[in-house]
Amino acid sequence: MKTIGLLGGMSWESTAAYYRLLNELVRERLGGLHSAKCVLYSVDFAEVERLQAAGEWAAAGELLAGAARDVRAAGAELLLICTNTMHKVAEQVAGAVDIPLLHLGDATAEAVLAAGVRRVGLLGTAFTMEQDFYRERLASHGLEVIVPDARGRELVHRVIYQELCVGVVREESRAGYREVIADLVAAGAEGVILGCTEIELLIGAADSPVPVFPTTRIHAEAAVTAAL
Ligand code: GLU
Repeated sequence: MKTIGLLGGMSWESTAAYYRLLNELVRERLGGLHSAKCVLYSVDFAEVERLQAAGEWAAAGELLAGAARDVRAAGAELLLICTNTMHKVAEQVAGAVDIPLLHLGDATAEAVLAAGVRRVGLLGTAFTMEQDFYRERLASHGLEVIVPDARGRELVHRVIYQELCVGVVREESRAGYREVIADLVAAGAEGVILGCTEIELLIGAADSPVPVFPTTRIHAEAAVTAAL
């Protein structure tokens, strides 16, 4: 089994889910007392969020590149950035180490295509929904990506940072997300990517009339497949 390196803490609420999923998936596949070999570098998310808000992406990339070098030195043989948003600096991070980066956009696109979905809605932070780095990565696999309107994007983004990243799960926010998903479906989405690693703490299959693609689970599954 290869050792999985995790760049986490963005936020730790979803990193905790990654840790549990990796271990559950290894136990499912190998049985007995088997568990995932992994090395976690968990950042202080306040530092990363400040750089995001200031648009200081190169500095954020350097912070994560340093963390990547540290997990590599600790024995990691493959690398996960445990957030969709910070894939904005994926190249900078991947370039800092000699182990493969398992890109969350690629793993997600493969899962969407395997489900027979071509036109897909994307929920995530404003960075993920509005900038090119993530949508274009999905589109490079042949997917057509639809994002919510400005009001929907504001709601989805605000709930991520003000609630889910600090461990708050509110029924009202779930209802708001359900409306945003319904709008995406009305606009032709055949599936919806939960393109922020905290969203699956709030939303599941029962909240959507079309299949949802939970990126934390998808990433953990791809990592375990690569590690075994
Ligand atoms: N975990 C989130 C994501 O997957 C948002 C937090 C962050 O900005 O990294 O995008």
